[in-house]
Amino acid sequence: MFRHINNMESMNTEPKKYKNKRNFRKTREPSGIRKPGKHGSNFVIQKHDASSLHYDFRLNIGGTLKSWAVPKGISTAAGEKRLAIRTEDHPLDYADFEGNIPKDQYGGGTVMIWDRGDFTPLNDDGNEAVDLNEQLRNGHLKIHLQGEKIKGGYALVKIQSGNSDKQWLIIKLDDNDADARRNPVSTEPNSVVSGRSLDEIARGRK
Ligand code: MN
Repeated sequence: MFRHINNMESMNTEPKKYKNKRNFRKTREPSGIRKPGKHGSNFVIQKHDASSLHYDFRLNIGGTLKSWAVPKGISTAAGEKRLAIRTEDHPLDYADFEGNIPKDQYGGGTVMIWDRGDFTPLNDDGNEAVDLNEQLRNGHLKIHLQGEKIKGGYALVKIQSGNSDKQWLIIKLDDNDADARRNPVSTEPNSVVSGRSLDEIARGRK
């Protein structure tokens, strides 16, 4: 009982949005009550074949997965901007979810763990500790990703457009990992965890 309450409190209020959108008797997505899986990746990119295919980019900041839906996926070309729509925070254990969401449920479709790994904040002067939550509030964060497919520096920048505060851009920074010839979104389409294609996950192949 106590543990349950403690976990709920540690989840902030944001994941309420996550819970309110889902019926956990119908979807096998994590309810957020369990502890994160043993992998505990700090970032994950989930390929999500819902009403339209997109890539859900999630960063563990302060114990929740801050999330953006990136319609075209993440680029490895320096300076290339990709639209990223901020979505509701997800519980940490969502990073381990690969499978199918029933068609009649929120986000119905197939979810693949397309890439995952660790990330570190990037600061301009290399000195000051970076408060990622503050950067998030200010609409500008810089991080270094160490995934299996996606590596190196990226900036996430909020763009002002009308009264929407959901639109951001994810931009590859110019560094040794920048490579305009790589296009992992099309050349490395399968799960980084199971090697399965979207179709194989959809058909429930192990
Ligand atoms: Mn999604």
